[in-house]
Amino acid sequence: MFFHEKTYDIDELMRHNMHIHTTFSGCAKPEMKAADIVRTADECGLEIIALTDHNYPRKKNGVASQRLELLRQLEKIDHRVRVYVGAELSAYGIGKFADDIECDNSLDFRLYTTNHYHQDYWEHPEVITPRAYAEHMLGIMNSVIDSGRADCFAHPFMAGYIHAFPDPHDVTRSFTDNEIGDIMEKANRAEIAWELNTPAVLGDPEFFHRYFQIGKEVGVVFNIGTDAHVLDRIDPKQFASRYKEILY
Ligand SMILES: [Zn+2]
Ligand SMILES: [Zn+2]
Repeated sequence: MFFHEKTYDIDELMRHNMHIHTTFSGCAKPEMKAADIVRTADECGLEIIALTDHNYPRKKNGVASQRLELLRQLEKIDHRVRVYVGAELSAYGIGKFADDIECDNSLDFRLYTTNHYHQDYWEHPEVITPRAYAEHMLGIMNSVIDSGRADCFAHPFMAGYIHAFPDPHDVTRSFTDNEIGDIMEKANRAEIAWELNTPAVLGDPEFFHRYFQIGKEVGVVFNIGTDAHVLDRIDPKQFASRYKEILY
């Protein structure tokens, strides 16, 4: 269970990177070893990082034993940065979770994704329209909040993994301000934070400007997550000026 302080200052938020993949994620580069990740984080002066590897239904509860292995590796390395060993967990349908709740609760940081629609095990809405995807995502997010399993949402609302439409941003355009505000309020009561995910923010500036402004109004906690799969992406500060242009 982890919940940052509430701030809307991008420079302050960028002291942390709460979304980093290690070699336990098939999609991460072989250079993403725990020792090199913490060394890089120390070099860029980060205060807190989270290791967030993917979980998979076919490797049920695997992230719990991976955490122990990562902790063993970290013990051997001198480092200043505070490291949370969590996971990017999958809610692949409404009320559908890949792992047992005991596994989730053993993690230092439970970053929940609700929109990995490119994965073959992900559920899709019954009708294939942008609005149906938006409602499906809201349904999944609601079930994650109700489950009490999450500390933060990974790239929430993002439509980049929906390949059914010429412009996936038709999905994010179809969320109303009220829907975004209501689910943010509900998550706030459950102490769930909202990610400012680098590929998501940079890939859909129009939506994430709206998301940041509504979140500020509601008073949510934002986390920065660069979704690093290479060492070069561990320092969020390289994206600070782009974030400010888009969000402020
Ligand atoms: Zn993801
Ligand atoms: Zn990720």
